[in-house]
Amino acid sequence: MNYVPAEDRYERMVYRRCGNSGLKLPAVSLGLWHNFGHDFAHQTKRDICRTAFDHGITHFDLANNYGPPPGSAEEAFGEILATDFRGYRDELIISSKAGYNMWPGPYGEWGSRKYLIASCDASLKRMGVDYVDIFYSHRFDPDTPLEETMGALDQIVRSGKALYAGISSYNSQRTREAVAILEDLGTPCLIHQPSYNILNRWVERDGLKDTLKELGVGSIAFTPLAQGMLTKKYLGGIPESSRAAQGKSLSEGWITDAAIESIRKLNAIAERRDQTLAQMAIAWVLRGEGITTALIGASRPEQVSDCAGAVGNLVFTRDELAEIDAVAQEEDINLWARSSEG
Ligand code: NAP
Repeated sequence: MNYVPAEDRYERMVYRRCGNSGLKLPAVSLGLWHNFGHDFAHQTKRDICRTAFDHGITHFDLANNYGPPPGSAEEAFGEILATDFRGYRDELIISSKAGYNMWPGPYGEWGSRKYLIASCDASLKRMGVDYVDIFYSHRFDPDTPLEETMGALDQIVRSGKALYAGISSYNSQRTREAVAILEDLGTPCLIHQPSYNILNRWVERDGLKDTLKELGVGSIAFTPLAQGMLTKKYLGGIPESSRAAQGKSLSEGWITDAAIESIRKLNAIAERRDQTLAQMAIAWVLRGEGITTALIGASRPEQVSDCAGAVGNLVFTRDELAEIDAVAQEEDINLWARSSEG
């Protein structure tokens, strides 16, 4: 049977304007970093994407290196585009990125024009699309002139391979510089993609969140669930199927007794708000006006439904926010700190 998306999908989701642009993004977006490589059944990937779209999640985030192996998440999504999502391209916002190691040699990572343009071309081929909606510089490159990296993004947009340009994990100062260069080139920076969650608040400490607001640049917060730590998943130990047990990017060493104690207290606050902890964690990054959308990942379709339900309550009282601050310490879990040190 052909997939038919839920008719009420646009009533289920909230859409928020991305900075000063004309583009609206769903409050919850789906990323395909994990669980879309060869280590996962294709049917599960289809079910995850269909469930997302059924909940009004129109934005799917990829990168050249998502897998394993690198590139396989884009290939899997290309298959979904050609089957389940066939005929829906104009209802989707698809992004990709280049910056991390993708192929051997000096032209397979970082921020040169040579790498970014070749990588964008390869991403389009893997997904079988003529263009992506957003193309990002995945990380700041301290050894390449920022003018070159931003010039490559501008060229990618001008040549029609992407509609908008974005940057990821750049700190506040580098963001100001990048945004100014793009502005001069006539390709405004649409969006910034930083890590951000209750346990990782570098965007507040660095001033990035305020900077983006000031500059009118939108933002998409990745790992809003701290890779799963901000859910009930680890409260009774480390489940076999979890990211931590599989030794992926979430270290078992992060699941300390102190962290669990704090997560248990956060869970009690979420229950009082009549939300799951995952929903509260997503609502927390979306509070106020600084962040346009929360970029989640999922290993099962039910997780997507749960997360999409966050839009049911995005409002916090001052007391709730103070209580969250009192029970949750910042943990040393920001794997992307090095990029923003540049
Ligand atoms: P996340 O939402 O913080 O973590 C996702 C994980 O949390 C899932 O794989 C699942 O873990 C668990 N989970 C999700 N919903 C759940 C629920 N309702 N209940 C219980 N557990 C739940 O985000 P992430 O996957 O780490 O990252 C999201 C996206 O951000 C990526 O796919 C990628 O697009 C983007 N990203 C970008 C960068 C960058 O440098 N720009 C870096 C990292 C990520 P299990 O798998 O254990 O079930």
